Amino acid sequence: MSEEQTVQRISIFILLTLCLVLALTVAQITRRSVPNGAVGLVSPPPTSKLLAIRCGRFIEVSTGQEIVETIILVQGKKIVAVGGGLAIPPGTPVIDLSEATVLPGLIDAHTHITYHFDANGHFGGSALETRATAAKYARENARDTLYAGYTTIRNLGASGLIDINLRDDINAGKVPGPRMIASGEPLLSEDMPAGADKTVRIAAIREWVRARIREGADVIKIFEGVDAANNPVFSEEEIRAAVDEAALSGRRVAVHAHEAPAIKAAVRGGCTSIEHGTFADDEARRLMVQHHTALVPTLFLPTHYLEHKNQFDFDEGTWQFFRDLQARNIPNARLAIRAGVWIVSGSDAVAGVHGHNARELEWLVKAGLTPARAIHAATVDAAKLLGLQDQVGEIKKGNLADIIAVPGDPLQDITRLQNVQFVMKDGQVVKNTLVAAPKGF
Ligand SMILES: [Zn+2]
Repeated sequence: MSEEQTVQRISIFILLTLCLVLALTVAQITRRSVPNGAVGLVSPPPTSKLLAIRCGRFIEVSTGQEIVETIILVQGKKIVAVGGGLAIPPGTPVIDLSEATVLPGLIDAHTHITYHFDANGHFGGSALETRATAAKYARENARDTLYAGYTTIRNLGASGLIDINLRDDINAGKVPGPRMIASGEPLLSEDMPAGADKTVRIAAIREWVRARIREGADVIKIFEGVDAANNPVFSEEEIRAAVDEAALSGRRVAVHAHEAPAIKAAVRGGCTSIEHGTFADDEARRLMVQHHTALVPTLFLPTHYLEHKNQFDFDEGTWQFFRDLQARNIPNARLAIRAGVWIVSGSDAVAGVHGHNARELEWLVKAGLTPARAIHAATVDAAKLLGLQDQVGEIKKGNLADIIAVPGDPLQDITRLQNVQFVMKDGQVVKNTLVAAPKGF
């Protein structure tokens, strides 16, 4: 080997070593970065190795019971055992959450992951932005949502397939974020052919649903409402056409509806959930109970808008509408709870709410749910509404290992869930700031 060749080989060796060091450093930074500059102990992607979690308090969400000294065993993506005093096989790594309360990853049944404030902290100019910019903000929102303890969301309405593509990127492990059930474009009354008769409209609705399914939508979102004569903009029959078409491939239909006639048409048409439902009357509530239609009352949202008025460009009519919603939604939710309507938690997360999704739980408690029932609405009930009841929403054997922890006791104080410090999704620890937490809680 000539001297020149030797020098060349040494140079290549040094270059490769530098690349390796750089790659390892980048990997380390990526793995360790969590929001607010906090550095947590973040585990590598799950392997088939067993992992044990030692819980201080453990909330069994199905019963609302708190159990002390529970052990959870996780293998790969799944929970393999849960129990008090469970033996930890020798050599198993243990995550010590004995100073915290442990519960399943939360589920938000109504988000708008693409909605965001612009660089000036303002919402409204997004019509001019590129798809790439919107996608960048959506990724940030997804990350913030996950780090807030929401390991699953249902996104109801996004343009440009941004939510569907984000879902796929999260599933492929390219970006951090919650598991997503995504609707893509929502159906608006303006999407209907002008002046069309009933038969044409129904055919158009069916074709519209098929188009969303071809694009990869998991769920269908419809904006129902009323016209000037207080009649629903989509009839019961038209909602049923969408429901039947979606059901052919096992998909469900979520309907935005505030006014009583709109709610009734959607419920009679067979939708799975009413989103908002603010101005329901007794008959509408009765129908929801009879059809076992979920109500996602999105109670916090009007307060969020009104508290950040200077950041949103709405006209006075819209602001008045939000004031009406704010005045009516808590009393309405109380009536729905009393009537036995199935309540599911969804925040309607828009710009400024991503990462603060648990504010909705506080509002559900204001409306009369106990903290245990509010947590049930954001775990067991939401999993059922999303069709994921055998995978998420409970910490039990066979479910995906979506596990969160907070200091303090959320059954005493629901706002504790606004301070999630440990997040595991699919068996992977994505956030853990509990190590720095003081002892005792
Ligand atoms: Zn919404």
